[in-house]
Amino acid sequence: MINGERSIERPLRWGMVGGGRTGQVGYKHRTGAQRDGTYRLVCGAFDLEAERGRDFGTKIGVSADRCYGHYKELIAGEARREDGVEVVSIATPNFTHYEITKSCLEAGLHVICEKPLFFTVTECDEIAKLAEEKNLIVGVTYGFTGHPLVHQMAAMVKKDMLGEIRIVDMQYTHGFNSGDDAGAGEAVKWRTNPKTAGPTFVLGDIGTHLYYLSEVVLPHLKIEKLLCDRKAFIPTRAPLEDHATVLMHYDNGARGRLWVSSVNAGNMGSQRYRFVGSKASIEWSDAQPDQLIYEVQGEPTRTLHHGMPYLEEESLAADRMGALHTEGLGDSWANIYLWIAQAIDAKRRGDEAFLRSHHYPGIEAGTEGVRWLENCVRSADAGAAWVDFK
Ligand code: NAD
Repeated sequence: MINGERSIERPLRWGMVGGGRTGQVGYKHRTGAQRDGTYRLVCGAFDLEAERGRDFGTKIGVSADRCYGHYKELIAGEARREDGVEVVSIATPNFTHYEITKSCLEAGLHVICEKPLFFTVTECDEIAKLAEEKNLIVGVTYGFTGHPLVHQMAAMVKKDMLGEIRIVDMQYTHGFNSGDDAGAGEAVKWRTNPKTAGPTFVLGDIGTHLYYLSEVVLPHLKIEKLLCDRKAFIPTRAPLEDHATVLMHYDNGARGRLWVSSVNAGNMGSQRYRFVGSKASIEWSDAQPDQLIYEVQGEPTRTLHHGMPYLEEESLAADRMGALHTEGLGDSWANIYLWIAQAIDAKRRGDEAFLRSHHYPGIEAGTEGVRWLENCVRSADAGAAWVDFK
């Protein structure tokens, strides 16, 4: 169980680019990072509008001289200080991730970046090489994959409690973009423009969460082929999609089906996962994250509850609240940030043995998400054709 006791040598000096007053995801970063005292927020370039960013920064307790107007000023200003920032989180629109990550790594700073990580696998490979050369960590914030029941699912698969995996069924949908984009805010505008969002809209925005979670639960399964059918129900969003279906063939013969949509009218947003094996199935949704449905063929359905002693040790190790209380998205983010802090701490100490056995969403997790997107787009652009996964 995680109880806030310090598990690294000392708190990391932490800064943010983006995630300011108008940003949707910034607060999730701060509640995740600051939960266990592993990160101390010392600086930020929080906003595209410098003054608003400065005002915001001081109101969340950052000293005025360390609220910068631009990420390049942050890097230069912090480099001049003895107690300069060590790790920077990037919570800005997709098209900025690559250049900000590259600049931070070149300046010797660890990076925690939003998904989808970059636009291309080539960019991911280049950044992975740079991080390796600089001996730095790149973490990626797939928010819900720190939840203890996600790690319960992974442990059950590892213990062969499901048997051979046959079916992978995943859905992440909401209805918030069901209408057209007239009068849409900035967050919708950049998400629906290929120049700022990258090659996809909902596939990258929410589909990468599904894909990474399935990799955590089923690390031994690799996709051999996939077929992606994508569509913009609101035509101004084309060539980007607001709806997509992906079929996947895995190397053990399993079949996968994934649905992402932001035009699922009336739906308030939920991710749902069902992993079906030859003996049993498990099902989990963030709409009821405390509960995991476990169905063994021929037996009554069981509902497993987070924090209970009958769960696997991997799940209990990731639990914060205990069984009587709800465990949700904020707790999951705190785990992701803690695991990345432990990776950074190990890197600083040169503890490669720890890093080899330590789970956290790193550059590979970000890269695999971008690889999956590239394959989806290749298939969709070929008229929803089956393509070999490359
Ligand atoms: P948003 O449009 O709501 O906010 C972006 C913020 O970044 C704004 O405050 C803007 O002023 C600021 N900004 C833009 N360019 C900047 C720059 N160069 N320097 C400093 N600040 C800059 O976007 P959002 O929804 O918060 O998404 C940001 C990123 O987070 C995206 O990559 C998105 O995919 C990702 N995201 C991830 C999750 C998750 O669960 N992990 C959830 C939401 C968004």
